Amino acid sequence: MKMCIFCKIINGEIPSAKVYENEHVYAFLDISQVTKGHTLIVPKIHKENVYELTPEIARNFFESVPVVANALKAAFQPVGLNVLNNNGEIAGQSVFHYHMHLIPRYGKGDGFG
Ligand code: 5GP
Ligand code: ZN
Repeated sequence: MKMCIFCKIINGEIPSAKVYENEHVYAFLDISQVTKGHTLIVPKIHKENVYELTPEIARNFFESVPVVANALKAAFQPVGLNVLNNNGEIAGQSVFHYHMHLIPRYGKGDGFG
């Protein structure tokens, strides 16, 4: 069984600031916040990247995205939100357990983009 850093976070072996959790996904604050509320959503099943997601894993995963987005909207009142996913080192992926970044935006000079 693969035990990457995000698998350890899901299992509670590495502490994290939980934002949301259900049967299929775990969402937590990124350790290096590019803006306030920067959150990662990960499937509980270890898949390296978007190419490895089955339709069922993708459906269950994407169902959670608006739920987490709305939780961040309510908590932080951003004026916008970036939703993005890096696949492969060249694309900026540094942790090889599929994840989505949700980056709340507050205006020019908010630290991202
Ligand atoms: P990637 O570069 O793969 O798209 O994103 C990986 C993200 O995981 C980075 O933004 C990085 O800050 C975050 N990260 C890496 N290690 C940890 C950790 O141990 N805890 C948390 N909360 N985030 C992490
Ligand atoms: Zn993993």
